Amino acid sequence: MTIVKRFIAGAVCPRCGEMDTLKMYRDEDREYRECVRCDFSDSMAMDGSDQPSEELETRVNRAGKVELEPAQPLNFVPNPGTTKH
Ligand SMILES: [Zn+2]
Repeated sequence: MTIVKRFIAGAVCPRCGEMDTLKMYRDEDREYRECVRCDFSDSMAMDGSDQPSEELETRVNRAGKVELEPAQPLNFVPNPGTTKH
């Protein structure tokens, strides 16, 4: 499979502080970031399993009982209340 690495426009490296030096790419279940100026690299699970998510756990726990709600896509905003405009 081909892995495409793309620069993230406007992203600032948390290590060296340079802008537009971060590239991102992904494989089947993880998303990676790496800096071309320093050794910084990072990754996170696409399904959010790296981050504590009470919303997700709640949904999973209810999955076997609640049948009224349709399945929600993964890109559904988990916490609309925290979004600032
Ligand atoms: Zn860097």
